Amino acid sequence: MDHQRAQDLLSDYLDGELSDESISELEQHLESCDECQSELESLGDTLSVLKGLKPADPSPDFLQQVTKKVRRRSKSAFDFNFGLDRKIPFEAVSMILLGILLALYLILVVLPKEQVDPAAPTSTRPDAGAPMKPVPPGSGSQTMTP
Ligand SMILES: [Zn+2]
Repeated sequence: MDHQRAQDLLSDYLDGELSDESISELEQHLESCDECQSELESLGDTLSVLKGLKPADPSPDFLQQVTKKVRRRSKSAFDFNFGLDRKIPFEAVSMILLGILLALYLILVVLPKEQVDPAAPTSTRPDAGAPMKPVPPGSGSQTMTP
């Protein structure tokens, strides 16, 4: 495989869209070409950053996916780099993200439920009993003298 062809295939390679044959040809070229190796590296960095910045699609299982991912990352972070402070920002960001998601969940799911809930008793209002006060029936007729 020539250099130009390899360059063209690098992003497909990262996306896993290449055939096994193309992969082995590309990897053969990568072993001998420093330029393609560094290109692949920077492409990979860009892709992972882009994927990280992708706006969150609030699908029903999104929170589960994030939780799973965070747990997996946390596990590996603690397995291999326990106490290493460069891992802390990711953990902090994850907790903040989870907090935001939880707040969104509460706003979107719990709040509408409360609005529909007919738990607004009118009897607790102080002025609700006022019209019930009976008017003395004789007061009007007594003043009427023929
Ligand atoms: Zn090359």
